[in-house]
Amino acid sequence: AKNIAVMTSGGDAPGMNANVRAIIRAAIYKGCKAYAVYEGYSGLVKGGPEYIREMHWNDVRGWLAEGGTNIGTARCMEFKERWGRSAACKNMIDAGIDALIVCGGDGSLTGADLFRAEWPSLIKELHETGKITTQQYENHKHLNICGTLGSIDNDMSLTDATIGCYSSLARICKAIDYIDATANSHQRAFVIEVMGRHCGWLALMAGIATSADYLFIPEKPSSHKDWSDHMCEIVAAHRARGKRKTIVIVAEGAIASDLTPVTCEDVKNVLVDRLGLDTRITTLGHVQRGGNAVAYDRILATMQGVAAVDAVLEGTPEIPSPMISIIENKIVRKPLVEAVKLTKSVAEAIRSKDFAKAISLRDSEFVE
Ligand code: ADP
Repeated sequence: AKNIAVMTSGGDAPGMNANVRAIIRAAIYKGCKAYAVYEGYSGLVKGGPEYIREMHWNDVRGWLAEGGTNIGTARCMEFKERWGRSAACKNMIDAGIDALIVCGGDGSLTGADLFRAEWPSLIKELHETGKITTQQYENHKHLNICGTLGSIDNDMSLTDATIGCYSSLARICKAIDYIDATANSHQRAFVIEVMGRHCGWLALMAGIATSADYLFIPEKPSSHKDWSDHMCEIVAAHRARGKRKTIVIVAEGAIASDLTPVTCEDVKNVLVDRLGLDTRITTLGHVQRGGNAVAYDRILATMQGVAAVDAVLEGTPEIPSPMISIIENKIVRKPLVEAVKLTKSVAEAIRSKDFAKAISLRDSEFVE
């Protein structure tokens, strides 16, 4: 039997609790002991029973639907330093942990893989300096890790969906439905800012699901030289057909065809100055992260949690660290390092405005 710990790290996402619940219960079901590391990597660096707690079946009762993450999450600078990872290694050994499942974004999973790669040298050093016993050294020669993807942005390569993205999308759509009613009543225009610095998935899907008039995303600038002409033409045509409201969605990282940022303020000014529309800006902000997980995220998080426990139980030093994905509706294991590398390349291509490269990298994802 193994002692399996689970941690949530990076930005919170609805469904993280369902993932933790599934991991704890699957571990117990398989005869292992289950632990939760509280407050992300900073809990691992601090260690001790306050941060590394054994979890029992009933401890996660009621967690399936709850938003956020009940075991806490954090950004932790110390874990980016070797001494921080060494402290984390010692704390894990003291708690008897031999496998770690991390639910987070690409940063968190990068940290997890680095930790595993360094593990042999970390324990060697701890043993040589007398910080762990020979028995502990022998028992903890290898660390099995596994990643599950918790992110509202759906910004990870090698998976169709991340845990939380459909809950966030549902929240955005609900908020736009609310705005629709008032927009329609007053014949107003609303410019709505949604999350997504270099991934426009939420904005694009919300645009389809709410039939927005126009939208801006980071990956694909408007093909029209002047977006304001094009947007006004479309909005005016919709109004001429009797539409009483206008909705424009702007992702945080939206850009124009000249690759300069497009802000809600820019869009509002155009709608006011050129079309004379009574226009308001609504920034949805952290509302997008909140609330219960939708059914899809509960199911995804649960199936991936069970798969993550299987993956760490079957892990060997030779197998590269896995990440649990969903591809064409199947829960599969993918090499974590490759997924992170591809994700970073796509983000970098978008940051440097090389959209053709970003698209070809994304297309390459699912080629066998
Ligand atoms: P996300 O997981 O959502 O991408 P971050 O990038 O903020 O969020 O990463 C969360 C935490 O993971 C960081 O605060 C840090 O503790 C750890 N981490 C991220 N990148 C690394 C890295 N290259 N090496 C070690 N730890 C890292």
